[in-house]
Amino acid sequence: MRVGVLGGGMQGCCAALAIADRGVHVTIFDRNPSLVTRAGAANEGKIHLGYMYAGDPSLKTARTMMAGALAFEPFLERHLGASSPALRTSAPATYVIHRDAQHPPDEIAGYLKTVHGLIAEQAGRNPSAYFGVDLGSPPRRLSAAEREAAFNPGLAVDAYQTAEVAIDPLVVAEALRQCIADHPLIETRLGCEIVDAVAEPDHMLVVGRDGDGPVRDRFDQVINALWCGRLALNETVGIETGRAWVHRLKYGVSFRLPEGAERPPSATFISGPFGEVVSYGEGLTYLTWYPTCLRAISHDLAPPEWETYPADPVRSEVLAGTLTAMQEIVPALRGLDPGTLPEAMVKGGIIVAWGATDIYDPRSELHRRYEIGLSTRGRFHSVDPGKLTMAPYFAEACADRVMGKA
Ligand SMILES: Cc1cc2nc3c(=O)[nH]c(=O)nc-3n(C[C@H](O)[C@H](O)[C@H](O)COP(=O)(O)OP(=O)(O)OC[C@H]3O[C@@H](n4cnc5c(N)ncnc54)[C@H](O)[C@@H]3O)c2cc1C
Repeated sequence: MRVGVLGGGMQGCCAALAIADRGVHVTIFDRNPSLVTRAGAANEGKIHLGYMYAGDPSLKTARTMMAGALAFEPFLERHLGASSPALRTSAPATYVIHRDAQHPPDEIAGYLKTVHGLIAEQAGRNPSAYFGVDLGSPPRRLSAAEREAAFNPGLAVDAYQTAEVAIDPLVVAEALRQCIADHPLIETRLGCEIVDAVAEPDHMLVVGRDGDGPVRDRFDQVINALWCGRLALNETVGIETGRAWVHRLKYGVSFRLPEGAERPPSATFISGPFGEVVSYGEGLTYLTWYPTCLRAISHDLAPPEWETYPADPVRSEVLAGTLTAMQEIVPALRGLDPGTLPEAMVKGGIIVAWGATDIYDPRSELHRRYEIGLSTRGRFHSVDPGKLTMAPYFAEACADRVMGKA
């Protein structure tokens, strides 16, 4: 059997590894010259346990995320090795309830507690699956003194220390590239734009174009892991989108802390259009602030080709604006100057999700992220990971689907 995986982001690479693990030959197509250079590399790598989704009281999003989170590290460890730098994690996140949160603080506190109960239940079967972290203890409420020391108390009305961590997506991307380059059953066709997929009696025909002209190749099964290109290709094989979706371009800022600077806490500000601090090891720090970092929205089937690394003035606006906003909430960041930050980088990517309105609307579908995963039409399987967190989980689902097991 030969399987074509369209899209060499995090989802496509994980799917290729899971399928090749079953002894099947896989070809990964991507329009970029290298694997995992788009959304899969441009995010902050939070491996969601579900705490973020207080806007979905049905808990379906939380349950989905924690299933993905518990599959994430075991998958990477199996394919990349237990000593891979890809498995290194950030400082665990404090969930900070913002003064302008979209839900009352006690409702959010109740939500965090309930989510923890579900995590403890799910992790009970595999207690070390989440990077070996102990998931048994509930989120710890910070004392008023702790909260006031770490955050601006005028904006941070309550705070809970959780066990949730992030990986460094650039390190994971590099490890995946190496693993795939060395894999005897996986080949890559890079620099190839996919334009069509056609169902034939015994095969799927994949149509693309690369620097040498048209590309046509036949496969027994095809996985559509194109992320922002997925909906457009789905329609060519008759998988209608049939509901509102939104492509959002979001940037984030990363830098190395200058010598002697205080390490900020990893923190996620909830619930609504706020932001995050991720404190990786060795001073590497990531910041995002939604009102500054969300730069464009498209409801087109295929979004415009937005820049991953924006040029000035956008770069400087995002860097300075994000740092200023976060300095207001996180005192540890206050001495930093955007003009002199070592290794300062602004990178961004597209977030694809169901919904008609942005997250400023508390009723937006963007607050519910569980309607993701696989849709199949014959030999064509389209996978929407929804989040980076879910990629290994759905990779196994893709492999089971092409093997006829699910
Ligand atoms: C700023 C930001 C922060 C985020 N933070 C988090 C987070 O903390 N935690 C989390 O779980 N998720 C997060 N996400 C979401 C997460 O990044 C995505 O859900 C996930 O990476 C998408 O899957 P992917 O990696 O396969 O996508 P991509 O990396 O975009 O992969 C898709 C690939 O398909 C290729 N492609 C597209 N169209 C075509 C075509 N026509 N022909 C050929 N190739 C094509 C692209 O080049 C790309 O390589 C974030 C996203 C962004 C943008």
